[in-house]
Amino acid sequence: MSSENRDAVKTICPYCGVGCGIRIQQGEEPGDVRFMPWGDAPVNEGRICIKGGAATEVVDHEDRLTDPLIKEGGEFREATWKEAYEYVVDELERIREAYGPDATGFFGSSKTMNEENYLLQKLARRYGTNNVDNCTRMCHASTVWALRTSLGAGAMTNSMRDLREEADVFWIQGANPGEQHPIANGQYFRQAVLDGATVIQVDPHANKTTRSFQIDDTDRHVHLQLNPGTDIPLLNVVLKTVLENDWIDEEFIAERTAGFEHLKETLAEFDEEAAAEECGVPLEEIELAAEKYATAENAAIFTGMGMSQHACGVDNVQNEINLALITGNVGRPGTGVNPLRGQNNVQGTCDVGAMPNVLPGYQLVDDDEARAAVEEVWGFDIPDEPGLTNVELSHKFGESVHGLYVMGENPVMSEPDANRVAERIQELEFMVVQDIFMTETAKYADVVLPATTWAERGGTVTNTDRRVQRMRGVDKVHENTKHDLEIVSEIGKRLFDDGEELFEFDDPEAVFEELRQVCPSYHGMTYEALGEEGIHWPCYEPGDEGDPYLYAEAFDTDSGLGHVEGVRHTPPAETPDDEYPLILTTARLEEHYNTGTMSTRSPTLNRRTPENFVDVHPADAERYGIEDGDEVVLRSRRGRIAVEAEVTEDIKEGVVWTTPHFAAAAANRLTNDVLDERAKIPEYKAAAAEIAVDVEPADADAESAADD
Ligand code: SF4
Repeated sequence: MSSENRDAVKTICPYCGVGCGIRIQQGEEPGDVRFMPWGDAPVNEGRICIKGGAATEVVDHEDRLTDPLIKEGGEFREATWKEAYEYVVDELERIREAYGPDATGFFGSSKTMNEENYLLQKLARRYGTNNVDNCTRMCHASTVWALRTSLGAGAMTNSMRDLREEADVFWIQGANPGEQHPIANGQYFRQAVLDGATVIQVDPHANKTTRSFQIDDTDRHVHLQLNPGTDIPLLNVVLKTVLENDWIDEEFIAERTAGFEHLKETLAEFDEEAAAEECGVPLEEIELAAEKYATAENAAIFTGMGMSQHACGVDNVQNEINLALITGNVGRPGTGVNPLRGQNNVQGTCDVGAMPNVLPGYQLVDDDEARAAVEEVWGFDIPDEPGLTNVELSHKFGESVHGLYVMGENPVMSEPDANRVAERIQELEFMVVQDIFMTETAKYADVVLPATTWAERGGTVTNTDRRVQRMRGVDKVHENTKHDLEIVSEIGKRLFDDGEELFEFDDPEAVFEELRQVCPSYHGMTYEALGEEGIHWPCYEPGDEGDPYLYAEAFDTDSGLGHVEGVRHTPPAETPDDEYPLILTTARLEEHYNTGTMSTRSPTLNRRTPENFVDVHPADAERYGIEDGDEVVLRSRRGRIAVEAEVTEDIKEGVVWTTPHFAAAAANRLTNDVLDERAKIPEYKAAAAEIAVDVEPADADAESAADD
């Protein structure tokens, strides 16, 4: 059949959490997959960023894994699926027998679909452990924790559409949507500013978001360029300014919140001038921003990893919630606290329970009633203690954790202190990785299972504003690869006596049908109802249209009230000293994605930035004798990387900024694995570092050793 006669299928971009709709068409041969725009796609209305447009480039990449691999004598050899399955099942059984079920961890993936993550977490729980997690731990675990505890749901309170239409002020803190969520930034936020809204950006880095709002003839953009790790003092200045000027919403506070007195007490002795100095931002600029936010008709907060990836990540987000609650900016269109989620299904992966403390629908594993309701559908007992997070698991490799099942994640590059992760992962007795490429993690595996890409399979994903949408695939490229769902299902069937009953599903829709029985906020959805528009959760009953914004009447907390709680500044775990005099911070680029597994293999995406680099302020460059374009070494207490220096005033003096995407100079060799006590998210955003212009042979050795 010629390609002209094949219908293009409507699916969702596999990169960021905006959830843009695209079409793909099968060409003459498997692997000939063509990108086509989807003109009336619900989120992006046909627009697309560079990543979406290039997404099909890696589907038929020469590096694709095509057959199962088993490691023997330190080398991989091709194996049959039967051999590979038997090996995986034997090892998982052996480890459970020898050490108990909690000696194995399961990593789900925000790059895979709801049905696949649902089945993986069910597999972990049938195995007997809650040690299942996903990469939200690395990006928004603290946001999820704070929002769930204080408002009720760990997700955006509002939808991008109501925000564009109704918000008068966009407070964007620790997020860079111009780079990381380009369609949300251009089509929604920038358009709102063109229509009269104001943007307040709080970020240590001047970036594409900054430049996108520098629109001629408007002064409706304020950039508070604070020092990394000073978000709490900055927001405390804002909160105190709001209190002193009586810009609070007294009625909302009285009727819909609890804890306001605690906030007032926390701020009673607070010294705004000293705090502004610590932030590195003039006090009057913060006060002006506070006025713009608090006196707007509708003001919305957007939060990102600049807030969440700190050891005080939960407190950071709680302070944003405080601001929204005391000004009554929640529960209406154009308001709320809105995390911009990273990967295309990070929201859904959490929704379906691939986390160690919650079951599908954020039902706590230690809540007897909730657990019993899920057990009734599944037909087996679920462990009642929360499991370990992914970073906690990797801290215990070779000690109490001996087995690891990884579906589509790359912890050797994505976790902080990556050199140590690479060392510890070799202490495992057994690891299976299922993925589309030989990732830095897969190299250490005992068994590698070749999976299909996003373009070859169907299922659902949930975008950043809680919209559940269907993905649809075209033909498989490599005959001997399998869909993630098929692989997990087959392992479940072989691993357990009741596996045939628990893990036999005809297709993703059958899995979704079971998911909706145990996930209240998805209960009203069916594939048919999702159609092409998708549905925003919560959707409790068939026929519900879903909620574009939450908490119109009450919060989803036990009391129905929003939780206000004053927080105090906690500096980053590492601050500059004589040996490491700079603060290192990291963030993503527009044309790359996370550990670069897909994006660095895409010719279009790799063209502009094929290698890592570091932004250095001119004053620091002069101090350390660095010229623009020099190759320099960045060091922290944990490792070093060699990168090219970009001397720019985009970054503050005393701060250096780099990216996590490139295996040859992986920034996470430098980052700190200290965790937020509650959410267990690592502090990626602030580490003490030094920079030097001399690249010693040892630096090159360190790089190649880590790449092996
Ligand atoms: Fe894909 Fe995000 Fe770009 Fe949309 S904004 S095309 S979802 S990467």
